[in-house]
Amino acid sequence: MPSEWRTSAGSPDECGSCGGTEFDNDNFCVNCGTRRPASPRHSDIDLDSVAGSSDIGKRHHNNEDAMGLAVADAWCAAIVCDGVSTSSRPDTASSAAAASGIRTMSRELDKVTDFDEAAVTAVLKRAVGAAQAGAALAAGSEVGPNPPSTTLVSAIVSPAGVTVGWIGDSRAYWVPDGDISGAGVLTVDDTLAGQLAAAGVTISDDAPNAGALLRWLGADATDTQPHIHTFVPDAPGRVLVCSDGLYRYAPEPTELAAITHTGTAIDVAQALVSFAVTAGGHDNVTVVVLPYTGPFAAPGSRPEPGAATVPQDADGTDAIEVAEVAPDPADRAGPPGNDAPQSPE
Ligand SMILES: [Zn+2]
Repeated sequence: MPSEWRTSAGSPDECGSCGGTEFDNDNFCVNCGTRRPASPRHSDIDLDSVAGSSDIGKRHHNNEDAMGLAVADAWCAAIVCDGVSTSSRPDTASSAAAASGIRTMSRELDKVTDFDEAAVTAVLKRAVGAAQAGAALAAGSEVGPNPPSTTLVSAIVSPAGVTVGWIGDSRAYWVPDGDISGAGVLTVDDTLAGQLAAAGVTISDDAPNAGALLRWLGADATDTQPHIHTFVPDAPGRVLVCSDGLYRYAPEPTELAAITHTGTAIDVAQALVSFAVTAGGHDNVTVVVLPYTGPFAAPGSRPEPGAATVPQDADGTDAIEVAEVAPDPADRAGPPGNDAPQSPE
């Protein structure tokens, strides 16, 4: 089967405030002046083996989360991006990063013939480079003081195991099909609290700046190399990649595993999104579910959060050509729409 990819990125056809359908070149509604967001309020993407769901929640005006999913015979992959709500037009950064990232990831995975940790890690780095290029371009030609920015978490399920990569505080979890005591979080939040916890130091969530992001993608980001970690499970299960709109209501892996039902990937993704919205829907919520059916490690292999340090390139040359990776509406899968982030003229 040829590889296939889809993204939730794409502006809705109607103005969310007045229902108008005409927008100016800067994507503002000509009727009421509301800016048209870069992602719809709700998305479901079902590629059979891998599926995701994203919802605006109850408190936000826009869905600033975005997702990209891809699948082929030998692998499946996903990216979830959560626009940083304190940046300007965060939806434009998350949608551009998810779309650019998944397109590059799918294309690069198609080229891999021998799936090992090094090959998949290289693909993930290139995809995050493309995501960063997309997020930076969302700022437009004149980068203001607080340009669009986003987190990113990605998982690639392949014959090399489960490879996760991330920047920011969106997470990946491992949920085994059987004994949920084997569940684990595969990422370490790029926050002060997250990094200290990984080093064995616990601070209160109420501590000043405990939850402040240390790293992100966007035009003002200076450190955009992803953390990368490969884990080979010892039994079948699922990888969940999600925004904090989900895990804020069930942060512990066993809590999340306990509410992760068996069923198709799309059923599980929708059920987890519904759980978060019902629990309060304080934030946008996005979940992608990737099944894992082998190969398996020796029994007893435990999921561990990835290293808190960023892997260094062996050759130091992973240059990304921006022109090649900018979202191209004509090349985008999914429903037609004005999907590219709009740059202010
Ligand atoms: Zn309007």
